Amino acid sequence: MSSLIETYAPYTGFDVIQQLKELAEPLKGLRVVHVNSTKEGGGVAEILHRMIPLMNDLGIDTTWEVLEGNPDFYQCTKMFHNGMQGDQVQISDKLLEVYEETNRQNADRLRDTLRDADVVFIHDPQPAAFLKHIDDRKGKWIWRCHIDASKPNRQVWKYLREHVKNYDASVFSLAAFAQPLPHPIYLIPPSIDPLTEKNIELGEQEIKLVLEQFNIDPERHLLVQVSRFDRFKDPVGVIEAYRRARRFIPGLQLVLAGGGASDDPEGQIVLEEVRASAMGESDIHVLELPSDAHRTINALQRAATIIIQKSLKEGFGLTVTEGMWKEKPVIGGNTGGIRLQVVNHHTGFLVNSPGGAAMRIRYMLKNQGKLVEMGVKAKEFVRENFLITRHLREYMTLMLSLVHGSKHRIDLNKNK
Ligand code: UDP
Repeated sequence: MSSLIETYAPYTGFDVIQQLKELAEPLKGLRVVHVNSTKEGGGVAEILHRMIPLMNDLGIDTTWEVLEGNPDFYQCTKMFHNGMQGDQVQISDKLLEVYEETNRQNADRLRDTLRDADVVFIHDPQPAAFLKHIDDRKGKWIWRCHIDASKPNRQVWKYLREHVKNYDASVFSLAAFAQPLPHPIYLIPPSIDPLTEKNIELGEQEIKLVLEQFNIDPERHLLVQVSRFDRFKDPVGVIEAYRRARRFIPGLQLVLAGGGASDDPEGQIVLEEVRASAMGESDIHVLELPSDAHRTINALQRAATIIIQKSLKEGFGLTVTEGMWKEKPVIGGNTGGIRLQVVNHHTGFLVNSPGGAAMRIRYMLKNQGKLVEMGVKAKEFVRENFLITRHLREYMTLMLSLVHGSKHRIDLNKNK
């Protein structure tokens, strides 16, 4: 029977699988722990659900731990998140105390696992303060920042940097996010998995049923933005762009689909804002989906004529990758990780305002040939750059370089 990693060969070719196996050889038996703050919702959980089984399949003993906190903790970490993305936030000493205390308690709970691990990946600010509580750690610790940290609020970064600076390495998704730190910094963009329910091929019938379920007309053009209800995703700006475009494209439909991540306390408030802005219009579908609605999201993305991701800040934007994988051109906010994926006139368009988005929507819908061509290029771009196999290769290379310290050359064949 073929191993899990071999099931990716149809997408990547066997060479890539072989290379991954070779890279994994000197890492076999290592104990690796990933820590983040939610099992469901958002891009980090999406990736870890797939990355952990793949690492295990390659013989790297990998587990995933989730930090637990109370509402005050998530309020504080949401402010970190917004502050890292440039918002002016004032975090009270009381909330910072809750942050530190929650980290201390969780680090205590996970002490044995963390102390003995060979490599620990700490994702984002929520568990960043774990490190100082595990002072007898054995392994290498990596802070993996998924946030658009290109222009962080100074106070927030000054505070977080104190927790992060003692790690052995940091990983950012792109160069523009990297902050000065006294340890090696690696650039590793995220990825999608073509074999998940979110991304596998779906039959026409299944897509049709999902459209029926939400009263969406399969015969008319459809714009789709899938996102947590978060102001940085600019759902209200999407509605404005849609309304402007619809003046020229009668019958145009819009889906704004999202749900809350369990570590995001603002979701409900933003959802209400979006509903108010949609004003009950029948062609604007604001869908609140459960966190496991992966096939539904897949179907909506496949049914879309154009994928929108009009974020104002974006760490990476897996929803962009997911849309591109489904051969859809993307109209994306000209920011963060979206810039890495949306290549103007090739895989979609980068926009800076609702007016810009509306103009590009009109352009694409009036140039069907171009729309199809961009969709084909978009899929190929993802295949080459943003599949989980590339991500896995880069995480393994990072682990190899950290675990092997300053050795200049690592012989991958020495155990053969
Ligand atoms: N997602 C989901 N349900 C939702 C909203 C988002 O499953 O209601 C998924 C989405 O398909 C993508 C991830 O969550 O895989 C969001 O990742 P992205 O990088 O776009 O944004 P983040 O939420 O991490 O800021």
